[in-house]
Amino acid sequence: MKKKYYWFSLYPSCFLWLKGGEGLVYNAENKAKVLFRATGMVATMAGQLAQPENLYVIRLDEEQCQDSKLKTWMEELVAKGCGVLVPDDGQHERPLSLPPVLRVQDEAEYYRWEHRQGIDGNVLDNLHKLVFHLNGSRHGHDDYTRQWPLYPTVQPEALAVEDVRRFARNARLSPFLTEIVLTGNPFAVDRLPELVQELQEICPVTVCCMQADALEHLEEARAWATSLRLDIAVTDYSQLETLPREASLTCLVASETDWEQAAACEEQGGFRAVSFVPVYTGDNATFLESGLYIHIDDLMESTPDKREIFIRQKLNLYDFGRLVVMPDGLVYANPNAESLGSIHDSPHQLAYREITEGHSWLRVREGRPCCDCIYQWLCPSPSCYEQVLGRADLCGKY
Ligand code: SF4
Repeated sequence: MKKKYYWFSLYPSCFLWLKGGEGLVYNAENKAKVLFRATGMVATMAGQLAQPENLYVIRLDEEQCQDSKLKTWMEELVAKGCGVLVPDDGQHERPLSLPPVLRVQDEAEYYRWEHRQGIDGNVLDNLHKLVFHLNGSRHGHDDYTRQWPLYPTVQPEALAVEDVRRFARNARLSPFLTEIVLTGNPFAVDRLPELVQELQEICPVTVCCMQADALEHLEEARAWATSLRLDIAVTDYSQLETLPREASLTCLVASETDWEQAAACEEQGGFRAVSFVPVYTGDNATFLESGLYIHIDDLMESTPDKREIFIRQKLNLYDFGRLVVMPDGLVYANPNAESLGSIHDSPHQLAYREITEGHSWLRVREGRPCCDCIYQWLCPSPSCYEQVLGRADLCGKY
């Protein structure tokens, strides 16, 4: 009797990841996930599907289809809308598919090529956000700046306002520059509202300050909160009542108690906006583990679309497009990395340096242990917390 054959295919909206003995199929369209042990026939067939030349279609004979584990696996994939099994009998068409692969040129190599040709036009398009630490604050904390780059430092230096103006004007050549943040102790800056007004001609400006500095300059803080976008970094929840309601708050959260108070503040409303930033104090690792660490259950619940997965594979969601200028004039893409240069360099030079030599804008989960993990591209980009904690992952899975 003639042997029967079948086609099995995964849909183009499905990602298939295989790591060690594990596999995961994620359909970025209907958000279905199939996590499986990649052993025996399942490993063989999943491996074949993953080979680019097979274009997500494999051919099986009836004997292979009778393998109980393979059969269950294919049935689950079909039931969850991730694939299709059709007989290869001359009457059914062979399924057509394509694995979702982002085909773009290597960014760094492209910009190097442009640079060699003397074109150098587009690299600045990658610049989206500028953070100027105009000065330091005695209420600042350098360890926290490394975790949340808007947190004021204690550096004694101050930027020259003229340098800030010039740098921001040069950055204006980026059509995608959408935010300028001025942080530090803004109350110590001469004629700050005038500077803000000038910079607002480039793009929206936010002024950040510490709660303690705002309380020491309450009249000014109240006036600024109505005329500027003022964001106050809160560390003392017993003093919320005095703060101007027109301001937005960034609540620094270092413990369960902070968390409860910050959440209550958000619930009560009244402020323009409330956001939360966890901080590592050096002795609150247990709190961070519960509040900040990535939980596998959450990853399995997450539903990124295809574009979001591609972005995670190419660039760092937290750092990409941002330059941070510190009070001493040094410029960073991320305060935990090497400085890219100074405020006296052009934004164009700094963006080029970061793209071609830097380690922040394009930092993705490609090192160990993440590169061996089945959740590699479901996981959010690596953050500053991993750097501060000296870890490559933030899940405690390994
Ligand atoms: S090992 Fe890396 S990719 Fe895997 S869950 Fe942990 S942080 Fe995410």
